[in-house]
Amino acid sequence: MSKTKQEIYDVLIVGCGAAGSYGALQFSPDVKVLMLSKYSLTTSNSNLAQGGVAAVLSFEDDSYEMHINDTMIAGHHANNIEAVETLVHEGPGDVRKLMEYGITFDRKPNGELDKTMEGGHSRRRIVHHKDTTGAEIVRGLLAEIQTRPNIEVAENATLCSLARVNSGFRADLLIDGEAHSVFCSYCILASGGIGRIYRYTTNPKTATGDGIRIAYELGASIKNLSYIQFHPTAFNSQDGEQFLISESVRGEGAYLLNNNKERFMDRYDKRLELAPRDIVSKAIILESRRTGSDNFYLDISYKPAEYLLNRFPGIAEGCLKYGVDITKDLIPIFPCQHYLMGGIEVDIDSRTTVPRLYAAGECSNTGVHGKNRLASNSLLEALVFSRHAAEDIMRCMKAGYPGVSAHPYHRDITGAPMPGNIKSEIQSIMQRAYFVFADESAVRTGLKQLENILKRLKGSKYAVTTEYCEALSMATCAYIVLKEVDEQ
Ligand SMILES: Cc1cc2nc3c(=O)[nH]c(=O)nc-3n(C[C@H](O)[C@H](O)[C@H](O)COP(=O)(O)OP(=O)(O)OC[C@H]3O[C@@H](n4cnc5c(N)ncnc54)[C@H](O)[C@@H]3O)c2cc1C
Repeated sequence: MSKTKQEIYDVLIVGCGAAGSYGALQFSPDVKVLMLSKYSLTTSNSNLAQGGVAAVLSFEDDSYEMHINDTMIAGHHANNIEAVETLVHEGPGDVRKLMEYGITFDRKPNGELDKTMEGGHSRRRIVHHKDTTGAEIVRGLLAEIQTRPNIEVAENATLCSLARVNSGFRADLLIDGEAHSVFCSYCILASGGIGRIYRYTTNPKTATGDGIRIAYELGASIKNLSYIQFHPTAFNSQDGEQFLISESVRGEGAYLLNNNKERFMDRYDKRLELAPRDIVSKAIILESRRTGSDNFYLDISYKPAEYLLNRFPGIAEGCLKYGVDITKDLIPIFPCQHYLMGGIEVDIDSRTTVPRLYAAGECSNTGVHGKNRLASNSLLEALVFSRHAAEDIMRCMKAGYPGVSAHPYHRDITGAPMPGNIKSEIQSIMQRAYFVFADESAVRTGLKQLENILKRLKGSKYAVTTEYCEALSMATCAYIVLKEVDEQ
C-alpha cells in the first residue's frame, strides 16, 4: 500500500490467493480495489497447490455429466447440485482465461494439454504445471494484477475485524503491525481455510480462519465447518512438519503400503489407491489400528527415475531434504488436515447472508464439495465463484447502489502481550477431538476448554496483533467445528 493511500475503496478483497487475485482481475478498470495479504503475497494455500485444476476441456472421452457425477460421488451426494453444475459448466472458461493471463500448463510433445488423473476422477481431466500448479497460477495472477492500476495490493496487512457502517464496511487493519482503518462499499472474503487449528496440516500459517471468524462476528451464517478433509498422504517427517504428497502420485500408479510393506487398500475399497481422499484417510487410520503401527508408505520407485524427476520435481526435492529419494525409496506418509469444505454460507453469486459481504474460495461454503472435495476441484471453485462475486458487485454498482463514506475513527490496539501457548492449546484440543474420526468425549471436553480460551481472549485486554487476531479466529473456528460435530 502506498504512503498516499486512499481510504475509501469500492471493494476490499481479503486475500491474494487464487480466489482473491482472480476475483480482483474480473473488475472493470473503474472499480477501485484494495487487496490484502496477511504475510507475503505467495504465502497461501493456493501457492502450495500441486496436483492441478480439474476441468472438462475436451469432449473426446469426457463430459460435463461425468465431472458432475464424480464430484457428487466424492461429496457423498451432499453437494449443492446447482453449484456443482455451475462449477463444471463455467470452470473450463475460467481455466482458459488463466492461459490468456500467461499461466502455462504442461503439454505433450504434440502440443495437447497433458492431463492427469487423481483419486475419484473417472477421466484424465486435471491440467497441471509439473507438481507446482498453484505457484504457477499465483505467479501469473499477480503478474497480471501489476498491470491493473485500479488494484492496490497491501502486503503484511491483516484484517482484524469488519464493522458495518452506512453503505459498506469499516475494515480495521494492521499493516506492518500498525493500526489503519479503511472504508469499502463491498468486501470479498477470500481468506482461505482453517488448517492451522490442527497441529498436523498441509496448510501454511495464513490458514487460521480469520475471514470465517470475521463473518461470524458480523452475524453471517457459517455452514458445515466440520466438513474437513484429511489428506491421506502427507510426508511423515520426524520433526512434525508436514508437506503434501499429491494425490497425482497415486494417480500415476504409486502403491500404498502398510508397516509390513504390503498393499492393503483392497480391505477397504475396491477402487484401491484411487478411492476418494476421505476413504483412503479412514482406511489408513483403521489399518494403523489393525497393525498397531503408524508407519505407512507410498511406493512409486518402480517408475523410471527420469520420468519421476520431471513429473514430480517439487515432491522429489521436498523428500530429498529428509533423505528420501523417491526414485529408490519408500515415501513415509500419514494423513493430516488438508482442506475445508464448509465455511461462510454463500449463494450462487457468492453473497453471504450479510448485505454487501461476499466470500469465495476455501473460506466459503458454496456446497460444491458436499462432504468431501473431489481432488483439484477447489482451485476451480476459487476461480468460478470469485468471478461470480465480482460480477454481482459490478451489477450492484451499475444499479446505482450508494457507496460508503468515511468517518474519522481511532482504534486503541495497545494491551498486554497474549500468552504464547494459546495456539498450541487449540491445536492439541483439535488433534484429540476430531482428527479423521471424532472422539465423542474429547469433543465435549474440547468445547469446554475452547469456551475458556475464548473468554480469556475476549476478556483480557491483550494487545491487538496478528498473532492475537489469529488465535481468536482459531478458537472461534475450532469451537464452531466441535459444536457441529457434537450436534451430529
Ligand atoms: C499443499 C496443498 C496442495 C493443494 N493442491 C491442490 C490442487 O492440486 N488442486 C486444487 O484444486 N486444490 C489444491 N489445494 C487446495 C487449494 O490450494 C485451496 O483450496 C485454494 O488455493 C484456496 O484458495 P483461496 O484463495 O481461497 O485461499 P488461499 O490461497 O489460502 O489464500 C488466502 C489468502 O488470504 C489471506 N488472508 C488470510 N487471513 C487474512 C487476514 N486476516 N487479513 C488479510 N489477509 C488474510 C492470506 O494472506 C492469503 O493471501 C491444495 C492445498 C494445499 C494446502
